[in-house]
Amino acid sequence: LHRYMRNDLNNLQIRCQYWQHGCREKVPLETLHQHESACPSEPMRCPACRADTSRGEMARHLQICTLRTSAVVPAADVARLLEDMRSELEAARQDFMTKLAEQKLEMDLRLDAQRRHLVQREHCLQEQLEEMRRLYARLSEDIKKLIQQENSRTELQMAQEKADFSKCCTRLPARRQVQKLQKVQIYERQL
Ligand SMILES: [Zn+2]
Ligand SMILES: [Zn+2]
Repeated sequence: LHRYMRNDLNNLQIRCQYWQHGCREKVPLETLHQHESACPSEPMRCPACRADTSRGEMARHLQICTLRTSAVVPAADVARLLEDMRSELEAARQDFMTKLAEQKLEMDLRLDAQRRHLVQREHCLQEQLEEMRRLYARLSEDIKKLIQQENSRTELQMAQEKADFSKCCTRLPARRQVQKLQKVQIYERQL
């Protein structure tokens, strides 16, 4: 029921609110606002001469409105205005150039400082590298010495062990001699 009522309302043809200003439109409630916000009969006032007119007539009125075209600036004023603008532009250009030069100078100074810093740093790194090289040379020398010591030590040890072994060997009787000795002992016991 509610829906039907709404449909009826929407289908109702309603007069435009500018009826008495000459609009003869009758539109459905749904589109009434849309029409009235663009209705050519809506009264309007010329923004230049304040004359009463309507939305539909405004364009034509502006073409004939005297005040709209009378706002012309005299030529002398235009020349003065142009001159002002030119000198303002020139001042702005000068200002810009000065600032640019200042910035360039500052940039150069900063670059110079950075360059000096880099040179110093490179020098420092070179020194560190040199120091590392010296350290490395000393270390490899030490290692070489240690290896030599170790080698001669083992050689000495091996020679010593060899000598000990052969001494033992000469001290020990040969196996056959031992066997002979044992036989002799057994023989002696039997006697
Ligand atoms: Zn209307
Ligand atoms: Zn006007």
